[in-house]
Amino acid sequence: MKTQIILLAALASLPLFANDNAMVNSPDGKLEVSLGIRHGRPYYSVTYDGLKAINNSLLGLTTNEQDLTRDLSIKTTETTNIDERYTLDRSKTSEVHYVANRLLATLATPQGQELQVEFRVSNNDVAFRYLLPKQGETGSVRVTSEATSFSFPDGTTTFLTSQSDPMIGWKRTKPSYEELYCWDAPMSQGSQYGHGYTFPCLFHERGVFDNKADELWVMISETGLDSRYCATHISDAHANPLNGGGIFQSSYLNTYTIAYPMPEENNGIGTTDAAIALPGSTPWRTITVGRTMKPIVETTVPWDNVKPVFKTNRQYKMGRGTWSWILWQDESINYDDLCKYVDLAKAMGYEYALVDNWWDTNLGKECDGTAKDPNKSIEKLIEYAHSKGVDVFLWYSSSGYWNDIEQGPINRMANSVIRKREMKWLESVGVKGIKVDFFGGDKQETIRLYEEILSDADDHGLMVIFHGCTLPRGWERMYPNYVGSEAVLASENIVFDQAQCDLEAKYATLHPVLRNAVGCMEFGGSFQNKYMNRDNKPRENRHVNTRPCTSTFSLATAILYQNPIQNFALAPNNLEDAPEVSMQFMRDVPTTWDEVRYIDGYPGRYLIMARRHGDTWYVAAINAEPQKLVISLDLSVLNATSFTLYSGGDTPTAKPMKLKAGKTLLNLAPNDGIVIVAK
Ligand code: CA
Repeated sequence: MKTQIILLAALASLPLFANDNAMVNSPDGKLEVSLGIRHGRPYYSVTYDGLKAINNSLLGLTTNEQDLTRDLSIKTTETTNIDERYTLDRSKTSEVHYVANRLLATLATPQGQELQVEFRVSNNDVAFRYLLPKQGETGSVRVTSEATSFSFPDGTTTFLTSQSDPMIGWKRTKPSYEELYCWDAPMSQGSQYGHGYTFPCLFHERGVFDNKADELWVMISETGLDSRYCATHISDAHANPLNGGGIFQSSYLNTYTIAYPMPEENNGIGTTDAAIALPGSTPWRTITVGRTMKPIVETTVPWDNVKPVFKTNRQYKMGRGTWSWILWQDESINYDDLCKYVDLAKAMGYEYALVDNWWDTNLGKECDGTAKDPNKSIEKLIEYAHSKGVDVFLWYSSSGYWNDIEQGPINRMANSVIRKREMKWLESVGVKGIKVDFFGGDKQETIRLYEEILSDADDHGLMVIFHGCTLPRGWERMYPNYVGSEAVLASENIVFDQAQCDLEAKYATLHPVLRNAVGCMEFGGSFQNKYMNRDNKPRENRHVNTRPCTSTFSLATAILYQNPIQNFALAPNNLEDAPEVSMQFMRDVPTTWDEVRYIDGYPGRYLIMARRHGDTWYVAAINAEPQKLVISLDLSVLNATSFTLYSGGDTPTAKPMKLKAGKTLLNLAPNDGIVIVAK
């Protein structure tokens, strides 16, 4: 009798019903997601290699019709296996084999209202989303908030970038994912603006497990976003109501909750809610976990669970471009200077020249509306480019009524009637793509505009680059004419600001393992100018922003940064003043890749990665530390027979290397890099 009572007491601390728990493992068994219910509240946790990467964290969402965060129990669970192969033609990997285990749990309230949560678990990635079935007569709901959270072991440090205040910055264009990062910061450090952080988010769990030597890297992000939802971000850290494994509230700031857009975004127009038709689903939230950053750099989770939104019968050609605006700025948007950049593209063998803002005024009409010299019009420039075998991208503002941008063309992408007319003209003059800048934020209203621009552009054979924009979320696979997004504090800041020149190497050790790990990144880098001005020369008695990074460093970033069309920050003067070794490298460098390999690194300190194009491997390494770095590489793993080493800082050489048995040791000076091309 006594024994039975003890047994009952032990049972009372366990879930009341066996079906209040469910679990799903990765195919290799290392990554495990547990789903549970406590006091009617659904939660999950993630374990990797026996280490709790994500502690018990709440699930659930609230709509205008239902509170689906509490009073829930698990009604049914279903597990299936996924084994799928697909190709990507503009990302880090070309052939993907996605193998995962799937858990679909149907949760229900006592009144019978249902919420489904679906987990897909591959060896290093968890993707999960909610599905809302149709219930009764209700055919649509507004999702107003989520309980979805991510709770980390106390002591975890963070690499996060803050969500900006809305309607601030240049012409009131923020937020646009162009903020600084914190480096290895404690979770208790608040975000810069108090609105939390934008995806992707990187967490370092070191010294937080029983065995202090254990460490995990965890990245969380979002994917599969189209016009049917808003983009989300995460809150500042708060206490976890589930306190890891216990039931008492924790006072530690260790938990981040999914946050919806801010009301003031997009000039206050559009809801912060997501409106979905039923049955409907949220985008996928993703968690990538590894003992090093390797699974994060190499992850394909942004694309594994998304499908093309539309198909195309167009052929889109990726490649390289020149971009006059980055160094020569607004003053370069005139016929003669733009011809120089077309000539540069030809000299480099590049496919494209990007014409930035004000072309409509400066190459079309005078400010008073009278026509410019027809021999210096944008059509003439496009003809000139075609005569040199170069195709053209044209810039547009997305606005609209959501910022104060006056850089033209404005008001042509925001309205479907004008947009379609404009795109018809673009196609008729042989333009191959557009760069659309200055979007209004993360509301569903704005995500719909992204999709409409992509869809209309495809009708006219136009590729699309976004700037001043949100993070792409699976778009490389979802939209056949999508090329890339800025959504990063990009190369323009190196031109604008000495502090950013000084931080170029530091950020170059982070972006490839974080921002660029989840999507194409239109950074516009690989400067060969030392001085951020038109003649690439210092001035007496006046400061000119000056890059401490070397010529060879810039070659390394051409490999580290991935965008299928890279608009490199080269200038016509570089044909004369940059090392010929560097310029030849920049002529030959590919921008589409078959494979990526993370080798070693630490954000803010150094990075070594390799990318493969066809049968050629490019190993790139950079050093952001103030002292010399010695790196050790095992080149035999590349299975190559010929190796060329690009090194030497600002006076680079390309020298054949002999493959030695064991490790190859190489020195990197501060702000310097190397590239090894192996065939
Ligand atoms: Ca920008």
